This record gives sequence, C-alpha cells and structure tokens, in this order.
Amino acid sequence: MFQLAPKTALVTGGNGGIGLAIAQGLVDAGARVAVVGRNPDKLRAAVEALTRSGGQAQAYQADVSDETAVVALFDQVAADFGRLDILVNNAGTNIRKPVQDLSLAEWNTVLDTNLTSAFLCSRAAYPLLRQRGGKLINIGSMTSIFGASFAPAYSASKGGIVQLTRALATGWAADGIQVNAILPGWIDTELTLNARAQVAGLDERIVARTPAGRWGRPEDLAGTAVFLASAASDFVTGTAIPVDGGYSVQA
Ligand code: NDP
Repeated sequence: MFQLAPKTALVTGGNGGIGLAIAQGLVDAGARVAVVGRNPDKLRAAVEALTRSGGQAQAYQADVSDETAVVALFDQVAADFGRLDILVNNAGTNIRKPVQDLSLAEWNTVLDTNLTSAFLCSRAAYPLLRQRGGKLINIGSMTSIFGASFAPAYSASKGGIVQLTRALATGWAADGIQVNAILPGWIDTELTLNARAQVAGLDERIVARTPAGRWGRPEDLAGTAVFLASAASDFVTGTAIPVDGGYSVQA
C-alpha cells in the first residue's frame, strides 16, 4: 500500500531541511526522486545522501519562483524520467519583520517563493500527473492556521497554500489527482535556526507549547509525506494535516 516503485517524485527544496527528509522517505519507499533547489553544493550533497543506500535521485538547479525556469524544469524531468507521479511543493523562505517594516520587495520575495512557486509547479506538473493519477503535496505551516506578528508575508503565503490545496483538490479530483497539505509544527532546520536567533524567547515558548515537549526533526515529516504520496491515501484529498507534536491542539 505504501510502496512507491516505479513512481517518480519531484521535491522542490529537496536539497535540504524538510524537503531532503521527505525526499529520503520517498526514495526509501521506492520512488525515483528529482530534487530541486538553487544551491549547487546542497544539491550535490543531497543526491549523494539519497543514493547512498541504492536509491535513485537526480538534482535539478532551478529557481521555482521563475516561470520560465519552472517550465524548463518540468520539461527536463519529463524527458529524463518519462513520467511524474508525485509533486511536493516544499521550497520556502521567510523574512521576519512586523508588517509596518516590510518592503514590497520583501513581501513579493516571500509570496513568490512560498506560494507563486506552488502555483507554477502545480500547473507545470498537471499534464504529467494526470497521465496515471497523481499526488500533490503542498507544505504549509502552523501559520496556515495561526497568525504570527513577526511573519506577515509568510503567514499570508502559508494560508494561501491551504486554500490553493483545496482549490486544486476539487479541480483535479476527476483526473485522479489527490492534493493535500502538510502543516509542519516547529522543525529544527536552517530556516528556524535564524528564527531562534531573531525572535527573543521563541525556543522556550515553542517547547512549552508543544505537548510532545520538543522541536520537530525533518524526518518527522517523511511518514505523512509517504502516506500522501502512496495508494494508501487514494480517497484523501483537500486536507491539511498538522505534523506538529500536538502544537495546534494545545489550549
Ligand atoms: P530550509 O531553509 O532548510 O529549506 C528550504 C529549501 O527551499 C532549501 O532547500 C532551498 O534550496 C529551497 N528554496 C528556497 N527558495 C527557493 C527557490 N526560489 N527556488 C528553489 N528552491 C528554493 O527550510 P525548511 O526545510 O525548514 O523549510 C521547508 C518548507 O517547510 C518551507 O516551505 C517552510 O516554509 C516549511 N516549514 C518549515 C517549518 C520549520 O519549522 N522549519 C515549519 C513549517 C513549515 P536552495 O537554498 O538551494 O535554494
């Protein structure tokens, strides 16, 4: 039920953090994985890690907020693998400032990276995903549910990710494509390393509010991603599943 061979997956931001852990989960379940990012060193290291235990992975350097680059990326992946069954829209960034201090350029950077990229990649993947029925997984956040005063653009983008998920799920169900979101809690990655430095008291607040009593690890996301990529979730679509150690249900 969870076996992914001979499926092909593409993970944006699959060269680090949560994306790499999800890519590893998909490879371990038998998928061939295309990992996408901008940093060539991280891409190289990711493919090395993913293929170490016999898995199949290939790196693609692309800025997923750039329309031309995204079209070329999916053409290349289709040429290389001959199919695409699973898309994980995971690439993301954050600029932490209160809204009154945020420039339009900063707003656009966050929205383009987190939300417009998901639109561009989903649209480019559609003709491939619909060939055999496919799986699309978008990565949201606790800020898909809650507001964060220090992350207005990020919160808007992650709220948008959930609504985009629902729109795609309803639109593409007849094509046999299931579209779901994962909402990670606070996960220890490069992204949140900066947050701990920038937001006073954040570390203590998160541990205190998370019933599991710890930050998440990137590997904590892999199981839910494999479920949503596999036949086990064929009647699951339009959902947004928190993977957060209980953060979102704590009063
Ligand atoms: P990282 O910073 O570790 O990873 C982000 C990844 O996105 C990098 O691999 C980066 O690759 C890639 N990326 C960023 N911009 C672009 C772009 N324009 N084009 C292509 N790739 C890009 O962060 P996380 O692993 O923590 O975050 C992954 C996702 O999870 C994000 O969507 C984030 O918002 C979300 N998330 C994270 C949480 C956390 O606590 N860590 C909590 C909730 C959600 P490169 O550097 O090569 O461009």
